[in-house]
Amino acid sequence: MSIKKLPDNVIKLIAAGEVIDSLTAVVRELVENSLDAKASRIVISLYPDSWSLQVADNGEGMEEEDLLMAIQPHTTSKINSTDDLTKIQTLGFRGEALHSIAQLADLNITSRVKDSCGWEIITHQTEIIKCYPKAIAVGTIIHVSNLFANIPLRRQLNPCFKKQLKSIQILISDLALCHPQVTWQLLVDDRVILAISGNNYLKKIFPQLLKTVKYSDLEEREIKINTPNENNISILNLIIGLPDRISRPRNDWVRIGVNGRVVKCPELESAIYSSFHRTLERDRYPIIFLHLQTSPQQIDWNRHPAKAEIYLDNIEFWQENIKQNIEQIFKLTDNNISARFENKKLENIFKVAENRTIYNVDNSSQTIAENKNGLGLIELQVISQARNTYIIAEYSHGIWLIEQHIAHERILYEQLKNQWKIVSIDNPIILNNLRKKQVENLANLSLEIESFGEDLWAIRSIPQALLNRDDCLDALIELSWGGDIDSAQVSIACRTAIRNGKKLTISEMQTIVNEWKITKNPHTCPHGRPIYLSLEESSLYRFFRRHWVLGKSHGITEK
Ligand code: ADP
Ligand code: MG
Repeated sequence: MSIKKLPDNVIKLIAAGEVIDSLTAVVRELVENSLDAKASRIVISLYPDSWSLQVADNGEGMEEEDLLMAIQPHTTSKINSTDDLTKIQTLGFRGEALHSIAQLADLNITSRVKDSCGWEIITHQTEIIKCYPKAIAVGTIIHVSNLFANIPLRRQLNPCFKKQLKSIQILISDLALCHPQVTWQLLVDDRVILAISGNNYLKKIFPQLLKTVKYSDLEEREIKINTPNENNISILNLIIGLPDRISRPRNDWVRIGVNGRVVKCPELESAIYSSFHRTLERDRYPIIFLHLQTSPQQIDWNRHPAKAEIYLDNIEFWQENIKQNIEQIFKLTDNNISARFENKKLENIFKVAENRTIYNVDNSSQTIAENKNGLGLIELQVISQARNTYIIAEYSHGIWLIEQHIAHERILYEQLKNQWKIVSIDNPIILNNLRKKQVENLANLSLEIESFGEDLWAIRSIPQALLNRDDCLDALIELSWGGDIDSAQVSIACRTAIRNGKKLTISEMQTIVNEWKITKNPHTCPHGRPIYLSLEESSLYRFFRRHWVLGKSHGITEK
């Protein structure tokens, strides 16, 4: 077959096909335009049976002449020159989306800018067939109908509507995280499927997207960072589900946004996973969203044709920064703690107790004073031990119960990680009945092990933490059953930590508490169990109905 130039209309369709291949792609392009127009409210209506949809926003809108230009190929208001390409701050810039959609569907676009009258255009196959003034609020409504009517194959290749709806919901929730101030509504055949009310705090967006998450399970931070090699500031927004409170059975909620869009960046993901290492139960995954707003020069979008995966410049710098900030959130500082409420389960108990009374609770009195400069670690004063298992400690806003074994296990695990050392021993430890695999496993941990006669092995070096321990032999056998150095460290920490049931003196307990609270991950033990239970004074106050006594007449106010 000889090479021929394709007719123009085919070229157009191929070019459009690369971008607009599904309902989701249309929605993505339209809502990204709404976001670029600084909308704070976006309503997406889908009518799957008729292959039509509508996106309405309250953004800046378009003047009449812009509206007429918008559907032409390569027309954009977002860049002017090649120079601008390096400074893109908007989600769109190629000026192709509306044109492509106009090739694949009939459009009805109504738009109005402030202090002007609104205009409506109707297009068919990129021809503007009508244009007239229209009364409308400031913003833009784009109605797309007969989508893919001229390419039936594309309709056939689209996945079933249920799947598309799912991907549209993910698209919206991702954009909602990156643009938390925006209020969203998604309707299918005029029925509301998803509603997100905008808020400046991500913490308030999250529970709307993931119903199992509560406000109090989350920690949020906004961090300003000097951009490497540039004279400007980047902003890192970080929201984390505390590992002792929530986690996921799948890794579907580790999300990364960069400059307004959720992307894949495996290097940042690995930094996140390493921060959460040994904080969650086995087969559980963290809940975290981070959004980095940085200068376009830091980002290389050419990792993936659909901009879904990126390369970041100075990746090690960003990785380190993210790790440090997650670590900071895990710290038991006054600032972190006072912003949190008590354990979720306990909160429910308190609520049940409250429901039985006809008295209203005065919520205003239970707000914990925010300690703005409390960046130091919290003061925990050990007062007693309960059931030879729980350390009872007091702090400025309440009482904590700390399980002695796992708190100590956390300390030992981190110490082992920081100072993992294999030391030689004068008298070798003799093991017998080892399988070949067990001998290999011990050797893999860099222990010196050699045959010592028929079915006997001599171990001449061991992990330092096992020195002079009566259970050293048992521990070595346990280690021989396999695992890497990390699991060896976990099992040694567990084995060597103070047992529950052991009576401790106040000063021993104070030492444990002091060492535990400076660990990197004080919330959970290396197996993912929560280490402490906090009884906040505010809840105790509520529970014991102390507000009654502070009431007007003889202490009891019935409201
Ligand atoms: P791009 O977003 O790459 O500039 P599009 O084809 O998506 O290209 O849109 C073309 C232009 O139409 C945009 O640059 C913008 O000026 C205008 N536009 C599109 N949608 C909207 C909207 N919802 N509100 C205001 N202007 C819009
Ligand atoms: Mg666009």
